[in-house]
Amino acid sequence: LSGRLGDVLDKLRRRGSLSEADVDAAMREVRVALLEADVALAVVKQFVAQVKEQAIGQEVIRSVTPGQMVVKLVHDALVDMLSGEGGVEAEPDPMSLGIDIAHTPPVPILMVGLQGSGKTTTSAKIALRITKRERKKVLMASLDVYRPAAQRQLAILGEQTGVDTLEVVMGQKPVEIARRAMQAARVGGYDVVILDTAGRLHIDEVLMTEVAEVRALVNPHEVLLVTDAMTGQDAVNVAQEFNEKVGVTGIVLTRVDGDSRGGAALSMRAVTGVPIKLMGMGEKMDALEAFHAQRIAGRILGMGDVVALVEKAAETIEMDQAERVAKRMMEGKFDLEDMLAQIRQIKKMGDMKGLLGMMPGISKMQRQMAESKIDDNMMKRQEAIILSMTIKERRNPDLVKASRKKRIADGSGSNVPEVNKLLKQHQQMAVVMKKMKKMGGKKGLMGLLG
Ligand code: GDP
Ligand code: MG
Repeated sequence: LSGRLGDVLDKLRRRGSLSEADVDAAMREVRVALLEADVALAVVKQFVAQVKEQAIGQEVIRSVTPGQMVVKLVHDALVDMLSGEGGVEAEPDPMSLGIDIAHTPPVPILMVGLQGSGKTTTSAKIALRITKRERKKVLMASLDVYRPAAQRQLAILGEQTGVDTLEVVMGQKPVEIARRAMQAARVGGYDVVILDTAGRLHIDEVLMTEVAEVRALVNPHEVLLVTDAMTGQDAVNVAQEFNEKVGVTGIVLTRVDGDSRGGAALSMRAVTGVPIKLMGMGEKMDALEAFHAQRIAGRILGMGDVVALVEKAAETIEMDQAERVAKRMMEGKFDLEDMLAQIRQIKKMGDMKGLLGMMPGISKMQRQMAESKIDDNMMKRQEAIILSMTIKERRNPDLVKASRKKRIADGSGSNVPEVNKLLKQHQQMAVVMKKMKKMGGKKGLMGLLG
């Protein structure tokens, strides 16, 4: 390879990769951060081991230290873990509930958790959201027979939010109230019934049996475990118990507006696999958001500045490459060497948009290339074909005539039609480059690149 593009690619290849010592050193700090965030010890151990294995051998981005690189990898693994399979997307619609109410009404939602975790508050918040956003009719019922104040609390929240609550009848057991709630909902034409259960300060058998009975009776599609983000090491036990004895479909993390680091989220997710769906962001009725894995990951790790730094460095490299490619393009030059460099960059970056999306005239080419289904294998074959050409041929594709095509095809394990196809593609790309030169010129293009 020649010229600046070649230099860039060489640099890319020569950047170091993470050694076991690099990773170990950085992980000591990560481990402390996770423990300080109140992530359960067993989860910290497992997580650190898992990320360590993934991190060793990974490339270090230029201008970033190995330690910083590890922190970024840890951060990404945290986001994955918190949002991963069965979880919520990384950039959720904050107003979306992510809970399943698309069933034959009345659809019951069961709220469970320890006392004071925020069940009653969250019940009302969810009810309000479903009423307003989904335009569904919601009935709330308090199954907390131990504290009359709790039933009153729900009734008051119902009045505040304009959501109906089930009439309070003293002396009924939770299961009886649940049955009455479902009947009232059927008769009253309600879409959703939110059952707010009683909690205890600690897990006990009576509570679990009671909740399990209610569950068996109403057969809810959603059982939401409400937990306080400040719950430290105990979060694991609580989530595990509720999940085993009652079955949990989603976790709501409350008091995320407070200053806890939220390690409980990671612990609960790791141990139960249950997705965290919502976050309580305050006492007010609208303070409820879809779970935001990135935000929580950032808080748990508490190294946001390092993560930002690595992300910036990665962006800068993309920018550098784009600029160099752009310079040659600006001159209207695009030979097979440039194409090779581009194929390699695309392969490397996995996404062409980041590299070329910012330049004028490229979107058409991007589309063409996408339409011709660039996949890894195809790029490997294209790369092989170009590599089977002499430097002279790469710089001057017009030289590649019939006999040379045969040689190149043989050398690259492809065939003449494939070589032709590549040459044609190159031609199309070169035409776009020439057009760009006419269109943009130096100022236009470089201006865009900043
Ligand atoms: P329950 O015993 O599980 O029903 O808990 P409650 O719903 O009665 O909530 C207990 C206290 O926590 C109340 O004072 C709520 O206002 C408060 N609370 C609930 N969720 C949140 C939240 O997300 N943030 C804050 N700051 N307070 C909350
Ligand atoms: Mg309550």
